[in-house]
Amino acid sequence: MGMNMNDAASTTALAPKDYKSSVKPVWCPGCGDFSVLSAITKALAHMGLNPEDVAVVSGIGCSSRIPAYLNTYGFHGLHGRALPLATGLKVARPDLTVLVAGGDGDGFSIGGNHFLHACRRNIDLTYIVMDNQVYGMTKGQASPTTAPDWARSKMTPHGPGINPFHPLIIALGAGANFIARVSSHDPNGTAKTIVEAIRHPGFSFVHVLSPCVTYQPEQREWKKLVRPAPVEATSDAGRAARRLLTDDNLYLGVLYHGDRETYRPRFETTKVDPSQLEQEFII
Ligand code: SF4
Repeated sequence: MGMNMNDAASTTALAPKDYKSSVKPVWCPGCGDFSVLSAITKALAHMGLNPEDVAVVSGIGCSSRIPAYLNTYGFHGLHGRALPLATGLKVARPDLTVLVAGGDGDGFSIGGNHFLHACRRNIDLTYIVMDNQVYGMTKGQASPTTAPDWARSKMTPHGPGINPFHPLIIALGAGANFIARVSSHDPNGTAKTIVEAIRHPGFSFVHVLSPCVTYQPEQREWKKLVRPAPVEATSDAGRAARRLLTDDNLYLGVLYHGDRETYRPRFETTKVDPSQLEQEFII
């Protein structure tokens, strides 16, 4: 894309700091979510979007606090329900840029069903999931992306024992139109990918490796382990699927950019008399 996120603020009227609210984050020092917050503000500044033209919707969890830390419109919703909220908002206000933010517990467990159908529906949303493979806000239980032998939680003293959910495979299989993985240790790279995701029509999924330094302190090592994926982004879903066969969750970059038509529901202006509908259900 040829853009330098360090130069972004100088080419727009608003700087990244202008997208931050006066609310100070309560995350633990070193949490990866700080960097993702910074990346979102860099991306919005680079695009020159007015804060009143952006809405950020979330569910529940540490990363779902993000709307409070931004100066855009925001909605801190119910656990796992960010995507249906955002879907309704985008359908009603297609002029808004709608971002959805949250974690792996919120998005892939209680919100997993909504994730599948948001990918399938392909409404023009950008879904940023900060994955740290744990429920951080409720003090460290296994989440859908936790390794089977992760035995640190008292609730799963021998580990969850089941294979983790692979978010990119699910997103591709369910029909997401843009799929990428980034790492929070690189806020400029994350910002660049968020810009691409927002600009790409349809449902865009950005999987962020964002360490929970409190309950998964070894994730600090991700910074040394992540690396660019060995193959280029593709618009061929079959090629993307083959690439995922060798994905170890540490490859970064855009995996897939599809050209599926964005779903825009049609609104009929004809009013239906409810009593007519009632008649149809009489047996
Ligand atoms: Fe971040 Fe983990 Fe602390 Fe939550 S518990 S704020 S995810 S480091």
